[in-house]
Amino acid sequence: MKNLKQDLELLYEFQKYDIRIYNLREKINKISLEIEDKKRALELKNRRTGLSARKENFINLNSLRNEKETLLDSKEKKINKCLKELNIVKSNDIYKALSSEIEKAKEYKNVLENEILELMEKIDREYAVIKTNENELKEIEQKIENEMCEIKSFTKKLEKEINEIEKEREEQKLKVNKTILSQYERLRDGGRNEKAIYVIDGESCGGCGILLRPQLINQVQKYHELVFCDNCSRILLKK
Ligand SMILES: [Zn+2]
Repeated sequence: MKNLKQDLELLYEFQKYDIRIYNLREKINKISLEIEDKKRALELKNRRTGLSARKENFINLNSLRNEKETLLDSKEKKINKCLKELNIVKSNDIYKALSSEIEKAKEYKNVLENEILELMEKIDREYAVIKTNENELKEIEQKIENEMCEIKSFTKKLEKEINEIEKEREEQKLKVNKTILSQYERLRDGGRNEKAIYVIDGESCGGCGILLRPQLINQVQKYHELVFCDNCSRILLKK
C-alpha cells in the first residue's frame, strides 16, 4: 500500500477522537447513574422517616379526639338535662336516681376530658415531629434538585463537547484510507472502548503488552501491509 505509514498515523490520530468521545459518553453514563442513586437515596430517606405512617396516625388521633369530644358533648347535655329534671322532681327515689346518674355522668365526663387532653398533647407532639420531618425532607429534596440541575447542565456541556468532537472526527475521517478505516471499525467492535490500532512500545504491543516477534516488528516497519498483533489482533504501528 502506498503511503501506509502516513495512513496509519492518520488512523492513529483519528482513533483519538473515538477515544475522547467514548470517555465523554462514559462520563455521561456515570453521571446518570449518580442521578438515579440520588433519587433512590431520597426515596429511602422518605421511607425511613415513616412519614406517611405518621400522617396516617395523626389523622387517626384527630378522629379519635373528635369522637371523644362528641361523646363529651352528649354527656354535658345529659348532665344539664338531669339537673333541670332535678329541680322539678317531687319523688325522693327519682331525685336519688337522678343524682347518681349525674354523678356517674360527671365521672365519665372527667375521664373523657383527661383522655382528650392527653390526645391533644399527643397530637401536638406528632404534629411537631411531622413538620420537622417534612422540613428535613424538603431541604434534602431541594439539595438534590439543585445537584441534579448542576449535573444536567454539566451533561449538556459534555454533549456539546461530543458534538464538536464528532464534527472534527467527520472531517478527519475523510483523510483516512477507506480500506484501513473499515478494518479499524471492524476491530473497534461497535464503538466500545476497544482501540483498534496500537503503537509498539519498545518491543511489546502497546495494547496487550505481549512481547512481539522481531520479524513482526520488521514487517510493521516496512509498511507494505497491515500488520496485526499475534495476541490481540490489533493493528500495529511503529513510531
Ligand atoms: Zn497485542
